[in-house]
Amino acid sequence: MLTRQELEEREEKLLAPYAAKSKRTKGRIHPEEEHPFRSVYQRDRDRIIHSNAFRKLEYKTQVFLNHEGDYYRTRLTHTLEVAQIAVSIARTLRLNEDLTEAIALAHDIGHTPFGHAGEEVLRELMKDFGGFEHNQQGLRVVDLLEERYPNFKGLNLTYETREGIAKHKSFFDQKDMRNKEFEHYQPSLEAQVVDLADEIAYDSHDLDDGITAGLINEEQLLDVEIWKEVYKPLSRKGLSREMLKYQAVRSLINLSTIDLIKESEKRLESIGSLEEVRKSKHRLISFSKEMSEKRKELKNFLSKNLYSHYRVMRMMIKAQRFIKQLFLIYSEKPQQLPLSCQEKIGEQGLERTICDYIAGMTDRFVLEEYKKLFDPYEKV
Ligand code: MG
Repeated sequence: MLTRQELEEREEKLLAPYAAKSKRTKGRIHPEEEHPFRSVYQRDRDRIIHSNAFRKLEYKTQVFLNHEGDYYRTRLTHTLEVAQIAVSIARTLRLNEDLTEAIALAHDIGHTPFGHAGEEVLRELMKDFGGFEHNQQGLRVVDLLEERYPNFKGLNLTYETREGIAKHKSFFDQKDMRNKEFEHYQPSLEAQVVDLADEIAYDSHDLDDGITAGLINEEQLLDVEIWKEVYKPLSRKGLSREMLKYQAVRSLINLSTIDLIKESEKRLESIGSLEEVRKSKHRLISFSKEMSEKRKELKNFLSKNLYSHYRVMRMMIKAQRFIKQLFLIYSEKPQQLPLSCQEKIGEQGLERTICDYIAGMTDRFVLEEYKKLFDPYEKV
């Protein structure tokens, strides 16, 4: 049997000096006996996979609604793509793969139904009651809302995994809602890898899904430098349109990942420990300057042509309308909330309780709940 101690030894031997080592974790809030054959980060990963919030990612929107078709990404498949890219990068840079995987699998666990539309409306509704931000909500999920242990609330994850969830930042995230517990330092390299793997994943799959849905097309994309770079040589190979799209998306992921690994390796040359990583002024996991610029151009294209497409906007605004109505109808008469929710009102306030309840819903639960409460012929 391979024991946890042997796994820890392996990490000490094989991982880079600046990687997070399970033996040196800052630990869990509630002390627990460690497992005989799983490291602390493997255990974190497993706890995340077995949580309710993780399973619900299957029915939460990324950009396209769940019922629009079976080929589009959901938050769950997005999460798996992020984990795949992040773990490949971590392995190549000799970082801790288990910690990277745990953070990647949890990185969107605090996401509302209906993607960023849901987040925006909760932010607006909660602005006088402590705000709303999905990374902070992610931390709330793993620290408080998942209840499956008799002696404590939450999943009792290690400091490093929680830090990765709290510090996760991307193009969409606001910076003014950082958690005080983690704000003084740079997060581990493993957390930094997940942030950029997230960007690589969603830019490429939104392109893929956007083309499949007919909201953007390959010709329009030729104005975008990085797309042109991958698409032009492939377009001379006589591939079918669909095959060409897959190959272009694949090259895009590959190109970005290789650039990220090379640039990060350069930045890590003078770094000798995790403490130095934390104290560093800038993030050490990064794209090169040229790649950052090219990717920015692609992001701008997607913002303008995909995320603001009138069909996406109609869906977003519609979703916001019924999430808002649910919030208001619960606040007017909290007796409509399930008992397990009502019990929490005294301790954490009405608005926060409603916010947690709605944030935890899947897209289809929101739709069903809306029907139940607003359609006179529907059973409640
Ligand atoms: Mg994400």
